[in-house]
Amino acid sequence: MSEAFKIEDIFAENVFTVAKMKERLPKKVFANLKNVMDNGGQLAIEDADVIAKAMKDWAQEKGATHYTHWFQPLITSLTAEKHDSFVTHPDEDGKVISSFTGKQLIMGEPDASSFPSGGLRATCAARGYTVWDVTSPAFIREGAIGAVLCIPTVFCSYTGETLDKKAPLLRSMEAVSKEAMRIVKLFDPETEATKVTASVGPEQEYFLISKDSFDARKDLKFTGRTLFGAPAPKGQELEDQYFGAIKENVGSFMKDLNRELWRLGITATTQHNEVAPGQHEMAPIYMAANIAVDNNLLAMETLNKVAERHGLECLLHEKPFAGVNGSGKHNNWSLSTNTGINLLDPGKTPNKNRQFLLVLACIMKAVDRHSDLLRQSASDVGNDHRLGANEAPPAIISIYLGDQLGDVVNQIIEKGSAESCIKGEELNLGISTVPVVTKDATDRNRTSPFAFTGNKFEFRMVGSMDSIAMPNITLNAIVAEAFDEAANELEGSADFEKACDEYIAKTMREHQRIVFNGNGYSDEWVEEAAKRGLPNLKSMVDATEALVSDKSVALFSKYGIMDKVELESRAEILYDTYAKVINIEALTMIDMASKDILPSVMKYTTELAASINEVVSAGADASVQKETLDEITVYLKEAKTALTTLKADQAEAEKGCVKCTAEFYRDVIKADMAALRTPVDILETLVDSEYWPMPTYGELLFEA
Ligand code: ADP
Ligand code: MG
Repeated sequence: MSEAFKIEDIFAENVFTVAKMKERLPKKVFANLKNVMDNGGQLAIEDADVIAKAMKDWAQEKGATHYTHWFQPLITSLTAEKHDSFVTHPDEDGKVISSFTGKQLIMGEPDASSFPSGGLRATCAARGYTVWDVTSPAFIREGAIGAVLCIPTVFCSYTGETLDKKAPLLRSMEAVSKEAMRIVKLFDPETEATKVTASVGPEQEYFLISKDSFDARKDLKFTGRTLFGAPAPKGQELEDQYFGAIKENVGSFMKDLNRELWRLGITATTQHNEVAPGQHEMAPIYMAANIAVDNNLLAMETLNKVAERHGLECLLHEKPFAGVNGSGKHNNWSLSTNTGINLLDPGKTPNKNRQFLLVLACIMKAVDRHSDLLRQSASDVGNDHRLGANEAPPAIISIYLGDQLGDVVNQIIEKGSAESCIKGEELNLGISTVPVVTKDATDRNRTSPFAFTGNKFEFRMVGSMDSIAMPNITLNAIVAEAFDEAANELEGSADFEKACDEYIAKTMREHQRIVFNGNGYSDEWVEEAAKRGLPNLKSMVDATEALVSDKSVALFSKYGIMDKVELESRAEILYDTYAKVINIEALTMIDMASKDILPSVMKYTTELAASINEVVSAGADASVQKETLDEITVYLKEAKTALTTLKADQAEAEKGCVKCTAEFYRDVIKADMAALRTPVDILETLVDSEYWPMPTYGELLFEA
């Protein structure tokens, strides 16, 4: 029997929620704060003092001794924190009292010199500031270190350039809200809505393996993925893992994970086994984009923490194992007014829903015009294995609309308007005890990178390890621009309905190439997309260019999201990170091959040679032993040669320009690594398993 508890009793117990603020703050202070949360503006320092005191009192009741400004620096997916305690200078009697002031709440100044800034700040000029984001709630994080009050902040340099992912995200949310409100007002000038919120629900995939196996693999420890490994006899071909019954130890992990997430106010709701052995998924209910980003970062951290408690290791890497499915995040995105209207809800008759069609036309335009930026926003080093690599779908952005919307859009493109729309039909299974239900008007498409799913778009390219900040910054920005242009054209039209219909038809015609409802994984699509002129940016290095194009600079600066300098610094960090990550992988391969794998194979060959001598001197036939030895020797030699090449190339990979270095890693080092892996994986299948120096794929994937 499970012990009884109600979710509502523990939900958000570690979060300083609006309800708690309301309860603990004087009415006036709460009203001022709520006003800033809802409408923006400055908070008076006197109010901040009162809020800080209330926050500290609450945190202390929960056992917190320290606070931290929690921020999201420009490194892949990580969050940063520097703890300070509530202790103050002792008085004359040596007594200390705890304190936390409004100033400490609002602003921090960590020594930021070691964070990557992409040349935005010289190391000697170390100042960076963290500034409280009033719209993301403070929370308490617990661990062996004790309880720490975490205050979500944005991070910027002394000169005001943003050094994080949160500031641009908040700016992009404001931009899309402002421009979307103009669209809303076209249809309802008297609307009571005052803002539009970008909402996001990210589905998070991950692998669980046993901690012991993890510890026995240097590649997993240093790089988060396996750099060697022959396929296990069984993979995912039976598809018996997808939605399969959850194993007891994994179930116990998930139960614990949910509780931890709920306590942090994260609405963990869906859990299931994924396609690959050892692969699972967790999804929360959607939230405002900035909260969804924070929550997803916390969820990743919690996945790691809880796994450890269960003797497991959680792998968030996009491609931990060659030959089996990788992990991603599905970034479900929509726009809703503060009066509760989802602009992406087509209603029952989308062909007659002019506002929805205009929004859809704008999204088609945005995604078509900036497909390179969207693809860039989903790139990180690990995701290169999922996008455009051998086993992965191509890295081409297209939109899946499904049967119903696809048909409506086609009618509009052909005739200027859509008279009819396909309806969800009845599903009657002919079993009297099974109810007759209405089907969705549209099936799902698992191969589309950007799919319309009912009342939201699902951006499915995002990497499992990456922050979802950049995908949402990009979505908000590109759609804000399209709304802006539509509003410019349609505001003040004499015959609005006519003008709007014409605008919708024109926009859909101009951007129809971005719609693709077929199989996105097929070779035909790669050809077809090339004919349509859609970009196919095969690696993170190729995609990074998009960030600093004139088009990108114009877009992000126009809406005050990032300026040229900030974009260039980000591109620089991406190139640098790419080179560094692959370098760590190369060094790890060199280490494993030189110190573990080749020596083990040589030991085995010595053993084989000795056995050949003994078998021959016993007068028996040693031809099998001899053949095995010969075969192993071939691959041993090949591995040794590849190792020598990798070492030599790695030693001169530094090219003095970050982009050139990144390109060298992409073109030369990655090929060297593949050349080393191939013979080693064959050796794994030839050598006595007792000699193999690390757990195999079979053990990693099936023994968690
Ligand atoms: P799917 O259809 O992909 O199986 P669900 O409907 O369960 O998925 O939703 C997956 C994710 O999308 C969840 O995080 C969910 O909260 C989120 N989601 C649902 N509706 C919206 C919406 N209108 N806007 C943004 N995210 C949404
Ligand atoms: Mg989904």
